[in-house]
Amino acid sequence: MNLKSAYDLGQRVWLIRNRREEYRDPCGFCGGTGKINGADGAKRHCPECFGRGGKRAWRPTKWLVDGQLTIGEVRIKVRCDGPAVDGHEMFDNFGEQKAMREVDYMCRETGIGSGSVWKEAVLFPNQIAAQKECDKLNAGTREAASWVPCESAEEGS
Ligand SMILES: [Zn+2]
Repeated sequence: MNLKSAYDLGQRVWLIRNRREEYRDPCGFCGGTGKINGADGAKRHCPECFGRGGKRAWRPTKWLVDGQLTIGEVRIKVRCDGPAVDGHEMFDNFGEQKAMREVDYMCRETGIGSGSVWKEAVLFPNQIAAQKECDKLNAGTREAASWVPCESAEEGS
């Protein structure tokens, strides 16, 4: 078996990310003030938001080029989902088209062995290619289904 990855150890790559931004989701019960006015004029903390006036929430922002990383670990996972050919159930030439292929990377800047795991789909050989991909994703011309959100790409500690 000859396994290949798009990027080699020590290679510099460009990372694209969709950062989440925090925003305040205002409480509907008190109108975001955190206080409720009683009939006697007294003010009390809103029972819905406990006086906070709302809650923290997160929403995705645009895709952007997030900088350069250096490949420090390559993880390749291949599997043949097709029927066995001549008794061979492992990955082979006949099963290649049905095979699953996943390549993940860990980088010197974000931890090797322990740290962030990056999908090959969010790494690019140069800044121009990375920016082009961001433009496609932000314009909606790239199918989101084929993309791994950055949250799950960052799992694995
Ligand atoms: Zn409230």
